[in-house]
Amino acid sequence: MRWRRWWPRGSRVATRAPGRPYGVIAPDRRAAADRAEAPAGISEGEWALARARMVQDQLARRGLHDEEVLRAFGRVPRHLFVESNDPYGDRALAIASGQTISQPYVVAAMIAAARPSLGYRSARVLEIGTGSGYSAAILAEMGADVTTIERHAALAAEAVEQLRRAGYGDVRVVVGDGSLGWPEGAPYEAIIVTAAGPSVPKPLLEQLSPDGGRLVMPVGSREQQWLTVVERNGSAFTQREVEPVVFVPLVGEHGFRE
Ligand code: SAM
Repeated sequence: MRWRRWWPRGSRVATRAPGRPYGVIAPDRRAAADRAEAPAGISEGEWALARARMVQDQLARRGLHDEEVLRAFGRVPRHLFVESNDPYGDRALAIASGQTISQPYVVAAMIAAARPSLGYRSARVLEIGTGSGYSAAILAEMGADVTTIERHAALAAEAVEQLRRAGYGDVRVVVGDGSLGWPEGAPYEAIIVTAAGPSVPKPLLEQLSPDGGRLVMPVGSREQQWLTVVERNGSAFTQREVEPVVFVPLVGEHGFRE
């Protein structure tokens, strides 16, 4: 099977977020009406067409048929979260702090794999690795109560701004080590880790809902991992490996060292 690289080779996380382990960047509830304008020359209608093509060609054609997920990808303005001439292209893109945003298919596959049995509407969802804020916006578009953690304070601040501009100011963005989770919001119906670790962090397992909570995370070495899905029922955890992948490292107490 072919290894799929989801970010540019050689990218590295630079510094640990300073200060206390967590800092919450307050959600902005006034944001919904304050939407950003498209870059000059490209109308919102053209972006909408690009999104529809992305949904059809990259997601549905590859076998992703979760209607809730497809609808959200058709609505969230990815072009507000990345600086690219081809924001809806079938590839990972560079973002600030030497990090990347995965290709749309990968984001969709992870979100579909973590889907709570009753759907995402009103579900408590924890994302580790905010990056640009795009995947958090998709989860919010589906009606989830989203908390997302990013270790790079500058990236988190930028994500807060873009989430607000795109109309998803209710997303709770936390600066800190996501390998420790966010106990204040537990239990979570879904936990999505968008960086790779040597094993699933114990605090995340503890914060997963005992009523069928699902966690999705790339697990393995720094070089290559398996996309892993864990489901919790009571004190029992079942784990399955879905496909081989390559992600940026989860750097933290229960991840890799800097
Ligand atoms: N979900 C993001 C998006 O939509 O743009 C892309 C995430 S990127 C592939 C992985 C992110 O995980 C990076 O921004 C990186 O800084 C972050 N990260 C790595 N280790 C982390 C940790 N221990 N806690 C929180 N974030 C971490």
